[in-house]
Amino acid sequence: MQVRVNNCLIELAQGDITHQDTDAIVNAANSRLAGGGGVDGAIHRAGGPSIMEETDRKYPAGCPTGAAVASAAGDLKAKYVFHAVGPVWKGGLSGEPELLASAYTSCLQLAIEHDCSSIAFPAISTGVYGYPRDLAAEHSLTAIRDFLAEYDRPQLVRLVLFDPGAYGAFARVLEDMAE
Ligand code: ADP
Repeated sequence: MQVRVNNCLIELAQGDITHQDTDAIVNAANSRLAGGGGVDGAIHRAGGPSIMEETDRKYPAGCPTGAAVASAAGDLKAKYVFHAVGPVWKGGLSGEPELLASAYTSCLQLAIEHDCSSIAFPAISTGVYGYPRDLAAEHSLTAIRDFLAEYDRPQLVRLVLFDPGAYGAFARVLEDMAE
């Protein structure tokens, strides 16, 4: 499913983000960029050790929550991996919506800086970090739509949802946006 914003598309797909051939894929990293399970483990396994070597070298202090940093993509099809740090869900009154939105917009900004016309995101913070899926769908898609409305780039933003439940949550919000 797709929604157009200016000259850009927001698109949903189900599956494994490591198979995406967009210019950039986004990793749901932790603030130490230390590697972990979930999508982070999958990206480092599929992309090979050069990704961690580069982030260790360039970002020894890690990356703050709500921000993102770029690396090359090793053996992956994408050109870049943007390592975004989403918030841990603590009940919603600790700035989680703003931090989640800023994790997404930091990546979209990096996409423009690195001349990427396409980018694929996982559902940041909805795994180990515990962000409720329906709220994450609303806050993430609103941040993406608002960014594209303002900057009209990158041309394609694809959300790659790993499981059917997450796909359903994002699809309901995107359908509402299409109306
Ligand atoms: P976080 O710590 O930000 O919550 P996780 O990696 O635990 O990050 O989970 C984020 C989301 O990524 C979850 O919805 C999880 O199901 C999903 N996910 C896990 N592996 C993959 C993958 N290979 N491709 C896309 N999404 C994935």
